[in-house]
Amino acid sequence: ERKAALAASSGPGATSDGHKVPLLANVGGPGDVATAVDAGAEGVGLFRTEFLFLDDSKNAPSEEKQVDAYRQVLEAFPEGRVVVRVLDAGADKPLDFLTPADEPNPALGVRGLRTLLDHPDVLRTQLTALAKAAEGLPVYLEVMAPMVADRTDAKAFADACREAGLQAKFGAMVEIPSAALRARSILQEVEFLSLGTNDLAQYTFAADRQVGAVSRLQDPWQPALLDLVAASAEAAKAEGKSCGVCGEAASDPLLACVLTGLGVTSLSMGAASIPYVRSTLSKHTLAQCERAAAAARAADTADDARAAAQAVLSGE
Ligand code: PEP
Ligand code: MG
Repeated sequence: ERKAALAASSGPGATSDGHKVPLLANVGGPGDVATAVDAGAEGVGLFRTEFLFLDDSKNAPSEEKQVDAYRQVLEAFPEGRVVVRVLDAGADKPLDFLTPADEPNPALGVRGLRTLLDHPDVLRTQLTALAKAAEGLPVYLEVMAPMVADRTDAKAFADACREAGLQAKFGAMVEIPSAALRARSILQEVEFLSLGTNDLAQYTFAADRQVGAVSRLQDPWQPALLDLVAASAEAAKAEGKSCGVCGEAASDPLLACVLTGLGVTSLSMGAASIPYVRSTLSKHTLAQCERAAAAARAADTADDARAAAQAVLSGE
């Protein structure tokens, strides 16, 4: 299986009938870029910028330090896409100088974009650094905010990007059920969506992603989660915009086919998974992926959804 995956491990991601699904890498910084390029990533679908903030527990990194790190990642994908997520601090990624220490429920408190809107200086520095890093490069820069709940959040982020003079597409992560349910309204403010299925599962099932005892509810095959993916993808299609997935769900080859069938337009994952996803996707047509997606959504449990999709894709 490994051999077959590697044999098909070059070229752009696509179904067997040529429906393109760009396969992008999740990276945490310049150190991850070589592996992503080797795996044939068509770009970066999620650059988690938190790593830059871990060295110093009291201050944000300087603009200069940020420009340097961002530029290294952007330069690795000339002509490619790079989707940078602005700082996602709080909850499972606390930062001493930004995250309130006294919240009873940090996952439901000030985290992600909420933190940045409370610290506009930190957001401004990051956006300015991104604008400078992209200057003169042919790269196709996209910048997105984590934890967007509604149109008000999306507008606040887009305004901040415009104020920083950023020449990029601005997007919203869909990690909160409200964002999936009202995706069309959010798309009035931003140009793309990216589903963070790890947090979307956490908030859909009220199941902390860090608590193993509730991991059954973190299964991305849960039909309720698939419904929210479908709602987001349909909204993006209706608005003529893109909707990718950058959560762990994208790295499961069978689920990648189902996500494609649900209308997701790109898949971003840890680089090691790219050859397997590329190989599986290339064996099925878009229509088969759509049938697998419909079968999975018709199921009542995650296990049944997985089995139903598997039956559709292996029976054809
Ligand atoms: C997610 O929540 O699915 C996601 C991609 O972001 P993170 O895992 O960094 O919270
Ligand atoms: Mg997240």
